[in-house]
Amino acid sequence: MQYQTKSAEETKKVAAKIAQNFRNRGGIITLSGDLGAGKTTFVQGFAKALGIRGKIISPTFIITRQYPIPNSNRLLYHIDLYRLEQLQELESLGLSEIFQNLENIILMEWPERLGNITSLVSVQIKIKLVTKNHRIIDIV
Ligand code: ADP
Ligand code: MG
Repeated sequence: MQYQTKSAEETKKVAAKIAQNFRNRGGIITLSGDLGAGKTTFVQGFAKALGIRGKIISPTFIITRQYPIPNSNRLLYHIDLYRLEQLQELESLGLSEIFQNLENIILMEWPERLGNITSLVSVQIKIKLVTKNHRIIDIV
């Protein structure tokens, strides 16, 4: 599936649509694209659609943040691996434990840092920055 968006709000709407598929199930969703493409913006729209209130800020410096999903006993994880320098750091992040509970929803920026994990991934979001406000979003 491919979407074209002309604003951050439109990208959030696309994210909200995808989030409906995860109302009752978990999974890993990867977000690829250059800095400023709109990966975190997508996560904001996704989280809001699941009823998560409050600001989703980029977890760049702490790498993972987690939010309870209202009216469920599940969690949404927002993981940003941009600053991951060495794979050895991964163990200290506890990612393997996070990946084990697939009832939760994991949204992951910069999945490329982990090498090939596509066998674990439910949905891949690829965002291309075309012009200042124009994005092409491929959903695989
Ligand atoms: P990333 O997490 O990929 O580095 P961010 O989501 O943090 O990117 O930033 C994207 C920036 O681009 C935001 O400032 C957002 O408002 C802006 N923007 C402009 N047009 C769009 C669009 N169509 N989709 C998403 N973001 C957009
Ligand atoms: Mg980001």
